[in-house]
Amino acid sequence: MAGALDYLGERLEELRKQGLLLHERVLEGPTGARARFDGRDVINLASNNYLGLSNHPRMNEAAARAAATYGAGTGAVRTISGTMAMHRELERRFAAFKRAEDALMFQSGFTANAGTVAAILDKEDVIVSDQLNHASIIDGARLSRAEIKVFPHKDAGAADELLGQTKAPGRRQLLITDGVFSMDGDIAPLPDLVEVAERHGAIMMVDDAHASGVLGKEGAGTVDHFGLHGRVDVQVGTLSKAIGVLGGFIAGPPHLIQWLQNRGRPYLFSTSAPPSVIAACMAALDIIRDEPDRLERLWANTGTFKDGLQGLGFDTGASETPITPVITGDEEKTQEFARRLFDEGVFTPAIVFPTVAKGRARVRTIVTADHTEADLKEALEAFGRVGGELGLL
Ligand SMILES: *Cc1c(COP(=O)(O)O)cnc(C)c1O
Repeated sequence: MAGALDYLGERLEELRKQGLLLHERVLEGPTGARARFDGRDVINLASNNYLGLSNHPRMNEAAARAAATYGAGTGAVRTISGTMAMHRELERRFAAFKRAEDALMFQSGFTANAGTVAAILDKEDVIVSDQLNHASIIDGARLSRAEIKVFPHKDAGAADELLGQTKAPGRRQLLITDGVFSMDGDIAPLPDLVEVAERHGAIMMVDDAHASGVLGKEGAGTVDHFGLHGRVDVQVGTLSKAIGVLGGFIAGPPHLIQWLQNRGRPYLFSTSAPPSVIAACMAALDIIRDEPDRLERLWANTGTFKDGLQGLGFDTGASETPITPVITGDEEKTQEFARRLFDEGVFTPAIVFPTVAKGRARVRTIVTADHTEADLKEALEAFGRVGGELGLL
């Protein structure tokens, strides 16, 4: 039967022909350094579970206990009746974690970014944004209706010029960057960007989704990594990656937080996080404090694995963090590479256009604190074997 949505079927067919249709693998148990996907036990280099917290017994117990005591859901958005004391406590703890005055939780890092950018700027304003910033920043920028100016990746000089060109009396300017870029694993030139923002009186905002729990003292993020406390107006963090659970947050001055409580649309119009999530996030902060060796192991594993890949002759791009791309360039070849690695027991996703530029296709690896030396050795052997067979080395 012909239907009004038939055009979607045609579009999907086009995606399929171009090799751009997504196929999700199914996780058949808890995530971890080794996990079961699609019926196969593999070394998992495909998660953002940097510190190995997603299935930590203390996290699981905290979640279960909170559900038993406070229920599975909160019943409302934060501003109506969905704020529990534990929501405020987690926010206080995140403010302390980021050494900011206050913090506000959102349902995800995505809504934290999009909701905040849209709420703090108007159509008269301008956003100066790194070319490789996350989709949630791009969506928030569009929702704000402000003018959007994109600067070449990590080019603080170009950001400086754009801020100069777009300056006008009464016009607010936002300079925004990811702290760690999710597809390349490189770090934003935050000291230079902060200087540029200060020179122009622009708001400085950093999205530390991949840096929270990973970079800086106790994983406090890029602001701490570069010693820029007090010079970044808005810090975004996610609870979904290194923290191991789900949610996002904004850290900054009290008037920012109160403004977002009044005008941050995802905060106002979407139900608050359930008790199990809040309790597990709180436990994550305890574990990060109590088990500092996790962060050490994450970075030791990062060094081992990066050195191993480079030693084999792979192009790992500009990565400086636990995110290490293995860049092959060709879309088809990359898909084949990922499939073959999976068959050899190593799960690492193929990342192709439009997520990265055409001709920059790669498989993306992320090591965690929980990977053992044996895991990494085995994974490197598979990379060497499959890379050799496909003529990538
Ligand atoms: C993953 C990610 C987000 C979104 O975080 P979620 O909590 O998963 O919604 C935002 N920004 C960047 C840079 C990310 O990598």
